Amino acid sequence: MDIHEYQAKDILSGFGVPVPRGGLGYSPEQVAYRAREIGGDTWVVKGQIHSGGRGKAGGVKVCKDEHEIFDAANDMFGKKLVTNQTGPEGKIVYRVLVEEGVDIAREIYLGLVLDRSTERVMVVASAAGGMEIEEISAEQPDSLIRQVIEPAVGLTAFQAREIAFALGLDPAQIQQMVNVLNGCYKAFTELDATMVEINPLVVTGDSRIIALDAKMSFDDNAMFRRQDIAELRDKSQEDSRETQAADRGLSYVGLEGNIGCIVNGAGLAMATMDMIKLAGGEPANFLDIGGGASPERVAKAFRLVRSDANVEAILVNIFAGINRCDWVAEGVVKALEENPVDIPVIVRLSGTKVEEGRKILSQSGLPIIRAATLEEAADRAVNAWQRDLTHAAKIVAE
Ligand code: ADP
Ligand code: MG
Repeated sequence: MDIHEYQAKDILSGFGVPVPRGGLGYSPEQVAYRAREIGGDTWVVKGQIHSGGRGKAGGVKVCKDEHEIFDAANDMFGKKLVTNQTGPEGKIVYRVLVEEGVDIAREIYLGLVLDRSTERVMVVASAAGGMEIEEISAEQPDSLIRQVIEPAVGLTAFQAREIAFALGLDPAQIQQMVNVLNGCYKAFTELDATMVEINPLVVTGDSRIIALDAKMSFDDNAMFRRQDIAELRDKSQEDSRETQAADRGLSYVGLEGNIGCIVNGAGLAMATMDMIKLAGGEPANFLDIGGGASPERVAKAFRLVRSDANVEAILVNIFAGINRCDWVAEGVVKALEENPVDIPVIVRLSGTKVEEGRKILSQSGLPIIRAATLEEAADRAVNAWQRDLTHAAKIVAE
């Protein structure tokens, strides 16, 4: 689960990480009022979306007076920001943060991530702040400082100082950096985070260290015991297809392609996506309907996949062990009878109650294209999508 910048700053500041003075607004009036509360002569207006790269997309504006603040906020509310991380569909701004403008002398990159190879939390820092971590790794890999943290010991003072020295900080800044690192590590471990990123962490003209941006992600599986974090969830920022799926007990990840997939088991779902690619197509989603799926759940999965306007063919691939092919077939028939489709539907069933399942499909009289193997199913899905409908029709007749 991701949260907004202002929420991450709130959390981190509770762990002793300095952040700029700021306030959140849900309207331009509120943003301007917040700015007045903050005072000063320079402010930064920042659209809140679950994405970095807002600066380049027009989501971060420096302002000199209240009118500019009002106008900047007014421009942002309801606007779709397309960044290098949101994908072409972008994300809409519903909340705007206004902060004091900070005098930046230096920008540093700081990230805490789960390193899967060492199975530890790893601190990554770089003096090349302001750039995205991907750019830093590609263009200045030598600037990356890494420290792997032993969970039983935690972040040691020695490690924290080593990072601060490697960044080339002045003696007066070393202890501040150590405090920032300790705060981030504590927030990470105590709140079941999977990522903390401060980019940029800045050194100000008067030698203070401040987090100018903040990003945090959390482990979904731990949210049951982190009620206060779970409440920070903002569904308006999530892929609505994925939110709907989670609410229905389905495991779904939206993708860019046009062949919708309904599969049981995460491994088989991955293999199905691979086979679609191999056949020359692009999957529209990953979807695992889980074990023992009832006809109702299958029908829900079907509706979910169809709600994606990009889908031009649907491939159902079931290898039933715990699942039952007859239930899956019932679900598919139910969904198609309720809402007939004008796109090809390809079904491959195998395993428990397969004969019963096939019978339900053929007796339904629906134009379902059947396939015996996964390879055949993927091929037929891609062919059907390519509007080679005469070919598809021939298969139905077989
Ligand atoms: P994003 O990563 O989404 O582009 P950031 O919060 O990192 O958004 O802001 C982009 C840039 O804007 C920062 O690198 C920094 O240079 C500048 N900036 C952001 N907040 C402030 C602030 N409070 N004061 C001064 N400059 C800021
Ligand atoms: Mg940033």
